Amino acid sequence: MDVIDPATDEVIESYEEHSPSNVDEMLGAATTAFETWSRRPLAERERLLASAGEVLRENAGEYAETMTREMGKPITQAEAEVEKCARVCDHYAEYASAYLEPEHHPSPPGTAVKTVHEPLGPVLAVMPWNFPFWQVFRFAAPYLTAGNVGLLKHASNVPGCALAIEEVFREAGYPEEVFQSLLIPSDRVEDVVADDRAAAATLTGSEAAGRAVAATAGENLKKTVLELGGSDPFVVFADADVEAAATTGAWARNQNGGQSCIAAKRFVVVADAYDEFLDRFVEGVESLAVGDPTDPETDVGPQARKDLLDEVHEQVRDSVEAGATLVTGGEPLDREGTYYPPTVLTDIPAGCPVDTEEVFGPVATVYRVADEAAAVEKANDTEFGLGASVWTTDRERGERLAGDIDAGCVYVNELVKSDPRVPFGGVGVSGYGRELSEAGIKEFVNRKTVWVA
Ligand code: NDP
Repeated sequence: MDVIDPATDEVIESYEEHSPSNVDEMLGAATTAFETWSRRPLAERERLLASAGEVLRENAGEYAETMTREMGKPITQAEAEVEKCARVCDHYAEYASAYLEPEHHPSPPGTAVKTVHEPLGPVLAVMPWNFPFWQVFRFAAPYLTAGNVGLLKHASNVPGCALAIEEVFREAGYPEEVFQSLLIPSDRVEDVVADDRAAAATLTGSEAAGRAVAATAGENLKKTVLELGGSDPFVVFADADVEAAATTGAWARNQNGGQSCIAAKRFVVVADAYDEFLDRFVEGVESLAVGDPTDPETDVGPQARKDLLDEVHEQVRDSVEAGATLVTGGEPLDREGTYYPPTVLTDIPAGCPVDTEEVFGPVATVYRVADEAAAVEKANDTEFGLGASVWTTDRERGERLAGDIDAGCVYVNELVKSDPRVPFGGVGVSGYGRELSEAGIKEFVNRKTVWVA
């Protein structure tokens, strides 16, 4: 596995893939580890998770640099990501016992009926490169604390992150086999999902990868959680604080180089606010500093891989050919590295690539709509249903739109974000199941009913 630094196009590291017999041993070790790990007191697993949070904070600089080198995330955003991972550890270290408390049910006199939450076994996590630490801790913090063991198949361009995360758990004092990174390409994932020793699978990534893993898991009757793409609407009304909406919107679209499932992607602006919003939004987008991701002043680094940059550019080019207006950006930067500038498109023809597909890069589409009904219709004009952001000072309208928009979450006067305290996940082709909060830790447990007469 060769790792290419997207800021320089140079191969910076090479890793040996794990052979089929290595993977076989790791699956065996995971099964054995599960026997003892699942029986440890929950309070002990919580304490270890709190230690993992400490290890993250102690080594934050080193982990951030690994992310930046492997996938081009600006260094300040990489540091913030490590801190967010530490916070999800803090959260489940504090709340796991409460979330996993037995539930008592109404029952006939003289009987006691409850549901207890038992771990399932080794859980395979197929994870993407865009938040190479966060996506992993989002799964590992709750599921390991519930008593499962983890097998990570990380994206092939971030093996250094995969091994660094393994190290976090080891340094925190976890038994080695409780969290293992499998260095394998995607065409070997099917074998692991189908293996009897893997109890369940979670995947964050593209729709195609989600369908592949879910199909194999389905054949083998294993539970999955899928967190796939999004094409989140960002709806702005004339009564909104348009300046705040434009500034937040520019950031919501372009942070992490625009490579986020919950980035605001389609800006749906009611006619009375359109001109002011567009002016301020374009100003915000153009003010972002694009460049060397190791420079703390940089807002937007390179795209993570050349093939991903090419795909984004093709979506833009085909949409402009179909009649979209390019307001700013639109051409890869003429320099080493895979840089794409923050780009804004308007007058989007229905059915062109940026209208119907997820654009996983710094490209915003801005739509003018007549009124609230048209805004809702445009917001819902997608197969995806991950998140949505609505900007209005009328709180009743905000609540109303939260009901009308088909998505896993709606944020009013705030950008969409994931937070350990609240459930995260989508509907439609954005996937199913929920991560984080109480909902997340209960995805991979046996909710066992115990009826004692
Ligand atoms: P992928 O979905 O291909 O990669 C995500 C993870 O899935 C990686 O670990 C990858 O492994 C693995 N994978 C890919 N195909 C399969 C398969 N058939 N069976 C099992 N595992 C598989 O994303 P890409 O990196 O190629 O990005 C493509 C698009 O996916 C983006 O443009 C974006 O639209 C979407 N995406 C969404 C993300 C999100 O946060 N929801 C995150 C990343 C991407 P390997 O790296 O070895 O191929």
